[in-house]
Amino acid sequence: MLRNHFETEHNLFRDAFRSFLNKEVVPHQEEWEEAGVVDRSVWRKAGEMGFLLPWAEEEYGGTALKDFRYEQIMCEELAAINEPGFMIPLHSALCGPYIAEYGNAEQKARWLPGIIRGESILAVAMTEPSAGSDLAGMRTTAVDKGDHFVLNGSKVFISNGLLADLVIVAAKTDPANKHAMGLFVVERGMEGFERGRNLKKLGMKSQDTAELFFNNVKVPKENLLGDAKGGFFYLMSMLAQERLTNACGAVAGAEAALNATVDYVKERKAFDRPVAHFQNTRFKLAEMRTQIDVAQVFTDRCVMDHNQKKLTPEVAAEAKLFTTELLCKVVDEGVQLHGGWGYMWEYPICKMYANARIQRIFAGTSEIMKEIISRGMKL
Ligand SMILES: Cc1cc2nc3c(=O)[nH]c(=O)nc-3n(C[C@H](O)[C@H](O)[C@H](O)COP(=O)(O)OP(=O)(O)OC[C@H]3O[C@@H](n4cnc5c(N)ncnc54)[C@H](O)[C@@H]3O)c2cc1C
Repeated sequence: MLRNHFETEHNLFRDAFRSFLNKEVVPHQEEWEEAGVVDRSVWRKAGEMGFLLPWAEEEYGGTALKDFRYEQIMCEELAAINEPGFMIPLHSALCGPYIAEYGNAEQKARWLPGIIRGESILAVAMTEPSAGSDLAGMRTTAVDKGDHFVLNGSKVFISNGLLADLVIVAAKTDPANKHAMGLFVVERGMEGFERGRNLKKLGMKSQDTAELFFNNVKVPKENLLGDAKGGFFYLMSMLAQERLTNACGAVAGAEAALNATVDYVKERKAFDRPVAHFQNTRFKLAEMRTQIDVAQVFTDRCVMDHNQKKLTPEVAAEAKLFTTELLCKVVDEGVQLHGGWGYMWEYPICKMYANARIQRIFAGTSEIMKEIISRGMKL
C-alpha cells in the first residue's frame, strides 16, 4: 500500500541513511554478532553524518529536524537490515530527549555535543533484578549528601550497557515516597560504577545487554536531571515516544520478514511446485500482507499525531501492542513457511524470529500495554 506521509526531504534522508548502513553496518553484522557488541567507531561515523539526535538544536551540533518521521525512517531501515545492536533509536529517541528536556543549560552544553558526535554513547537504566514492569518497586537509592548524591544498587538488562559512556540511572530519593526518584547521569569511570556480564540472549546478539552495579558512587549534583523527586514523571513522559519507536521498528521488521518469506516460497519446491503455490501459503501471506498494511497506516498516523504533540500514552500503547504482537506472528509464520531452513541461523528469517521476541517484553510488556489502554477506557 502506498504511504503518503513522507515528502521529498524524507526520501532523500532515507536514501542517505540506507547507503550509510550498507557501507558502515551491513559488512560488519556477522562480526558484531560474534562479538556481542557493535564497534564503537560506527557511532562516531553516524555522528559525522548527522544521524544522531537530528532533532537537537544547531548550537549543540544538531540539525533541528524536529520531525519524528526522520526517527521513523531510521527505525525502519535498521529493521530492514535486521540490525538489533546498533541502537540509534535508543540513543537518539529515548535517552537523548531526557537530557534535552530535563537537563539545564550547563548540562546540555556539557553533554549534547559529544552525544551528537557519537563520542558519548547513551543508555537508560531503570530495570532491576527484582523490578521491571513495576518501576516504583526499584531498590537503587540516591542519598543527598550536600554537593553530591551517593548511589547504591544494581540494574539489569541494560541495552548499550557495555558501550555507554553516560548512563541515565533512575534511583529512589525518598524512602517515604515510592514514586520519588531522580534521574542521575552516571559517567564512565566514576568510582564504584561497575559493569557486569554481557548477558547471553535468545536474539539481538550484536547488542550489549549488561548488568550495572553502583557501590557508593558519588554523583555530583551537577549530574542530576531536573528535580530529585521528579524522575518517575520524567520517565512516564517519554514512554509514548519510546513505544512509538518500537512500533515503527516492529512494522518494518514484519515487512522485512514477509519479504524474506515471499522470496523463499517462490524458490522452494515441494511436490513438484513452488511452496508459494499452495493455498495455505498464499492465504498465510495474504493475511500477513493485510495486517501489515493496516498496522502501517495506524503507525504512520501515530507518527503524524506525535509531531503535533497529540499522541496519547494510550494510543502509543495500542501501537506498540498491535505492531509487536503482529511482528511476532509474522516471523513465526515466516519460519514455518521456510520449513527446517527457517530454523537455521544462516537464514535471515531465523534471526528475525530470535530478534523479534523481546519486542513484546521491553519498553513495557504487552500485558502492561493492555493495562494502560484499559485504564484509558475508564472501565
Ligand atoms: C534485551 C533487553 C533489553 C532491555 N533494555 C533495557 C534498557 O535499556 N533499560 C532498562 O531499564 N530496561 C531494559 N530492559 C528491561 C525490560 O524493559 C523489562 O524486562 C520489562 O519491562 C519487563 O520487566 P521484567 O523483566 O522485570 O518482567 P516482570 O515485570 O517481572 O514481568 C513478568 C511477567 O508478569 C507480567 N506482569 C507484570 N505486571 C503485570 C500486571 N500489572 N498485569 C499483568 N501482567 C503483569 C508481565 O507482563 C510479564 O509477563 C531490557 C530487557 C531486555 C530483555
